[in-house]
Amino acid sequence: MRISKLLKSTLALGKSVVIICCNLHEAIGNSRGELVIDIRQKVRKRGRCGRCGRLSAWEDFGGGPRTWRHLDVGHFTTTLLAAARRVRCPTHGVTVAEVPWARHDSPFTRDFEDLVTYDAITSNKNAAARRHGICWRAVNNICIRVATEALGKIDLLAGLSAIAIDEVKYKKGQKYLTVVCNHETGKVVWAAKGRSKDTLKAFFTALGENRCKELQIVTCDGAKWIHDVVAEKAPNALVCLDTFHVVKWATDAVDETRRDEWNTLRRSGSHSAAKEVKGLRWLLLRNWENLSRHQRGQLRALEKANARIHRAWRLKEELRDIFTKGIIAARRALDRWLAAASRSKLEHFVKLARTIRRFRDKIEATIRYGHTNGIAESNNASIGRLRTNARGFHHAESLITMVMLDRADIAPDLPWNHAK
Ligand SMILES: [Zn+2]
Repeated sequence: MRISKLLKSTLALGKSVVIICCNLHEAIGNSRGELVIDIRQKVRKRGRCGRCGRLSAWEDFGGGPRTWRHLDVGHFTTTLLAAARRVRCPTHGVTVAEVPWARHDSPFTRDFEDLVTYDAITSNKNAAARRHGICWRAVNNICIRVATEALGKIDLLAGLSAIAIDEVKYKKGQKYLTVVCNHETGKVVWAAKGRSKDTLKAFFTALGENRCKELQIVTCDGAKWIHDVVAEKAPNALVCLDTFHVVKWATDAVDETRRDEWNTLRRSGSHSAAKEVKGLRWLLLRNWENLSRHQRGQLRALEKANARIHRAWRLKEELRDIFTKGIIAARRALDRWLAAASRSKLEHFVKLARTIRRFRDKIEATIRYGHTNGIAESNNASIGRLRTNARGFHHAESLITMVMLDRADIAPDLPWNHAK
């Protein structure tokens, strides 16, 4: 096999690229060895505009050759070297022509960028930067370029009929994103910085008047600003309260009850009992079906040790169970639950019962139409994972890019999985 043919197959440069020659620069000191490959595009009558892809007349050979970092070969980094020819686009004027191996205005090849994006999503940007020997900023720019290109090719807002609207905290100090998901696909379709009426109105503006009318179901938490905007912008949509949020209210009420008990015990001098109550936190928050035999035993023992905490925990589990029932059984169970919570003498559950009464029609709508907690819960979890991997995001825009790449499922596949 000739060396150029071997290289062309290994580097997967495609049929429209010709290899002119290649040079190997050995490693010196700490810098890696480099394989530099001179290439050119097969000559065509007309080129394409690098910015819009439109067929345009060739202008000139540009200002000399340019380089693009490509996928590594063994221990060596690979650099492609080619003339950056220019075209005269009717819209964009004289501009660099599109090349099949790279996105416009990038010093990296398409395959290299796809691999870096994959690494940034599956681990984080710092790890991806170290792994490929580029700086964090370059990884960030790659992610933005890849996401922008992918979002330009698809319309995520097409055919929406059931959506989930959620607010996700991304940074300390009341920094939130508003995230919209499609219930049918489970994907994120829109995200923006902030949580206000104006933020959400921007979504409905992007959706357009006609598509707003086609919205049938909107699930969300109890936030009034969401309910108000939905009522104004999507009058045909039925608002359902997300199960995930209702269960979270109950989980929070359990935790607050536990904290109150802990404080009472601590102040009364029962230090060992207080310590035990403190250690219960994670056990109480977990779902019964996920507990081990030992943990279930601990909860049974709690009934005698601290009846108030046990009652709070049981109310949480009973509320969770209501969402697994059919609408008629659920209505009856909800009546019983509200009575029990109101009589429970647990301050946080008496308050929760009041909240649930207020949203009762929206909760029943959720049970009737079967849009349960899956989406909001999994999105919250994966956005949390992205945030933890990045050890916090300073800019909402960086997180939005990553959320769209990961949760809107627009990230490119690994280069070797692309159909060529
Ligand atoms: Zn153009």
